[in-house]
Amino acid sequence: MEKILVLLHTESDGSICRGGLESLNASLSVKTQLAESELVIGIVGNNVKSAVSNIAGCGAKSFVAVEGEQFDQPRYCTDAIAIESIMKAVKPSIIIAPATIRWNRVVPGAAYRVGAAADTHITGVLIKDGVLKASRWYYRQRIEALIHRTQRPWVLLIDSGVFKPYSGVPADAQIEILNVETPETAVQTRVIGYREPPVGHQTIRPDAKLLFVAGAGWTKKQADGKVHIEEAEKLILDFLNLTRASLGSSKSLVDIGSEGQAVLSFLSHLNQIGQTGSTPRHPKGLATCCHGEEPHTVGWRFINERRAINLDPNCGWARGKADVLYVADAFAVMRKVNELFSGSIGKKR
Ligand SMILES: Cc1cc2nc3c(=O)[nH]c(=O)nc-3n(C[C@H](O)[C@H](O)[C@H](O)COP(=O)(O)OP(=O)(O)OC[C@H]3O[C@@H](n4cnc5c(N)ncnc54)[C@H](O)[C@@H]3O)c2cc1C
Repeated sequence: MEKILVLLHTESDGSICRGGLESLNASLSVKTQLAESELVIGIVGNNVKSAVSNIAGCGAKSFVAVEGEQFDQPRYCTDAIAIESIMKAVKPSIIIAPATIRWNRVVPGAAYRVGAAADTHITGVLIKDGVLKASRWYYRQRIEALIHRTQRPWVLLIDSGVFKPYSGVPADAQIEILNVETPETAVQTRVIGYREPPVGHQTIRPDAKLLFVAGAGWTKKQADGKVHIEEAEKLILDFLNLTRASLGSSKSLVDIGSEGQAVLSFLSHLNQIGQTGSTPRHPKGLATCCHGEEPHTVGWRFINERRAINLDPNCGWARGKADVLYVADAFAVMRKVNELFSGSIGKKR
């Protein structure tokens, strides 16, 4: 019989983040398929009561928490102590946790303290012949492996965006609060604030329905023999503001910036999609002024519907990489698209 521990942490406002709720749903599906398994929720943070009340109806057998001000902030030392204490109290065989920035840093280390095996970047869980298996990608999203382990405890850190988030009616739940000592040496690190990009420059939106990719073509000489960086910036930013799409980039475009050439000011390497960039999940994607070479398009693996705008009818997108290729000038197309969007939004208002 497997004893499943769902390991969560609260946010500073006392909620559980979307990734945490997704991991809870993943755990519930494992529990349903594994006969006689039981599910326990372990939670770390301050004011865990309100967080627990939102998931109280999930069918967990019990709720165990490490609570206190010192567990509010993400800090390796205190988080590791809290996780170790929960694992020792619950004695689970399977631990499922969200791959949040906070948990990714600390959960594998805490797992080591209790002799557990840990696997990160899990993108699926399934039961086959009564055995729990987990899937994850290797070699830059090119090989998908289905893994299982006989070692217990086994920790699985679930990537976000794979499962639907749990939602249930708030209810009361009994919470067992563990008495955990934190030595003074464990609280030397303090989070003194968060630095975020200025408002209006937040271009990466993982939940957006559309991924808009800008390629190096936006910075190249156009038909009139001139570059039009300012117009390119305006067209792209206007489109992002109108549609709330997420902005991706080709490697060439972000590299141009680091080589000192004119480049779109709001781009960084974080926007890069592809083999050496990210592999985001959006229902739709639109590539503009991007050639569609394999190292780039491999990052589109999880984009369901793909379109591209390129002047070159022989670009990579035309060779099976896109569902629709518009052989056209992206400046002209995006100008018209923005005009249509602002018109329709204006009418709605
Ligand atoms: C080991 C390795 C790893 C790599 N990893 C990545 C990666 O992670 N991500 C990545 O992106 N690349 C990666 N690359 C680089 C990749 O192979 C390409 O060089 C890169 O994707 C090209 O970027 P691009 O299409 O924006 O630029 P270009 O190849 O310069 O293409 C620009 C395109 O813009 C079009 N264009 C110009 N003006 C217009 C206009 N007005 N309207 C419409 N179209 C226009 C042109 O026709 C052209 O097709 C990697 C390469 C290697 C070797």
